Amino acid sequence: MKKTIRDFDLKNKKVIIRVDFNVPIKDGIITDDNRIRQSMETINYALDNGAKVILMSHLGRVKTAEDKMKNSLKPVYNYLKNIFNNLIFIDTTRGKKLEDTINNMKARDIVLIENTRFEDFPEKLESSNDKNLGKYWASLGDIFINDAFGTSHRSHASNVGIADNLPSGIGFLIEKELNSLSLENIDRPLTIILGGSKVSDKIELINNLVEKADNLLIAGGMAYTFLNASNINIGKSLLDNEHIDFAKDLLNKYKDKIVLPIDSVNRDSSDNVRTCFINEIRKDEMGLDIGIQTVKLFKNYLNDSKTIIWNGPVGMFEEEVFSSGTKQLCEILKDINAKKIVGGGDTASAIINFGYKDFFTHISTGGGATLELLEGKKLPGIEVIDEK
Ligand code: AMP
Repeated sequence: MKKTIRDFDLKNKKVIIRVDFNVPIKDGIITDDNRIRQSMETINYALDNGAKVILMSHLGRVKTAEDKMKNSLKPVYNYLKNIFNNLIFIDTTRGKKLEDTINNMKARDIVLIENTRFEDFPEKLESSNDKNLGKYWASLGDIFINDAFGTSHRSHASNVGIADNLPSGIGFLIEKELNSLSLENIDRPLTIILGGSKVSDKIELINNLVEKADNLLIAGGMAYTFLNASNINIGKSLLDNEHIDFAKDLLNKYKDKIVLPIDSVNRDSSDNVRTCFINEIRKDEMGLDIGIQTVKLFKNYLNDSKTIIWNGPVGMFEEEVFSSGTKQLCEILKDINAKKIVGGGDTASAIINFGYKDFFTHISTGGGATLELLEGKKLPGIEVIDEK
């Protein structure tokens, strides 16, 4: 078991919390504050327990001097200063100003350090986990808490580098992510909905999940490769030629678990949209969503499930005409009494935008990290944390 923030006496300690404030920002305004809100529990716990809180996060990618201008954490500071009146922003990632400010902190003060990836230009130090940088950042604090789930699949100076040099634990958000995404000791039946565009991106995910799941409902663009492998004419729908054999083998081996769409919403070359049974897709049509019959079929499996994990939209939800499948699934899941987990990325934004976020047990804040965890991989940012 990993140590958590609860395992430390935080009083008067300088606690470095690696948060994930990598949020979308437009014209200086945060357009989706989900990740910041999900960090609050750990920050508030540290403050309530008398810590001096040092917040570190990355934002975007920094490869040029212009990237630094675009990716300052200042907008995050502007957002947070309305919540915390004792918050100081340091517009640098090292140096005397930063060190003096931290040395003058009192219990319950908070310091937000500038984007850790500023250390990626001119030399890539943060993202290559430069040993000296990790040591330097660690020297600023007494305890390290990793709560940035979204980067925990990466070995960077601001997670692995600091943890190598300080007593460390995980925060409440990572604890929640690990509990939610763990496939051990779960209530069954476990049904997994897999959508998204490409099979190739999700081979390892499918391999791991098909073993663990009771039902695997495959939809979205990737379903058409599986349909093709079942000798169904898919017209101009997405086809991953290189993985037809993989799909065939999987369908043979797990025919009792895998459920494929039985109808499809298509667009033809003249932009006409039409729903049809799955064996009626015409040559010039592209399947872009599941139809109502598939939604009903999926509902039967979902109704009986105790745990549901959903990764990947079931249609091209960004376009209104092809968003019905994803919306109808949200509507069905809303009323189902099960543990309902949403893998991050596109599915998370779809659910939040459609207004269903409150009906899910957990919406993961990770994209790549969520996938790697569901693939059964170890995440370096979590592996490095001290054991109890
Ligand atoms: P992924 O990044 O693999 O999770 O894929 C997400 C993307 O898959 C979204 O942008 C959807 O628009 C897209 N998508 C879902 N269903 C389909 C489909 N039937 N054909 C093409 N793209 C799709």
